[in-house]
Amino acid sequence: ALMITDECINCDVCEPECPNDAIYMGEEIYEIDPHKCTECVGHFDEPQCVQICPVACIPTNPQHVESRETLWQKFERLSAAR
Ligand code: SF4
Ligand code: SF4
Repeated sequence: ALMITDECINCDVCEPECPNDAIYMGEEIYEIDPHKCTECVGHFDEPQCVQICPVACIPTNPQHVESRETLWQKFERLSAAR
């Protein structure tokens, strides 16, 4: 999963781009729910939030480093739950 750092300027552009509805407004800045973020695996070739963020503040979450296979499994779980 990816995460949003405190460099976030709350520009609002990433939230509607997320295919997994993983991005939400937190207490001060936008946040990413690591249980919903597949790094866009299953939907797009590149993480959509990273593509669009004007300040490049969306790195990999060091607490949630996942292989492509794990991300695929998450995508399949999320799809089944829809
Ligand atoms: Fe959503 Fe994709 Fe960004 Fe993860 S990488 S938060 S799934 S847009
Ligand atoms: Fe914050 Fe970047 Fe999302 Fe804008 S696109 S709200 S700066 S994380």
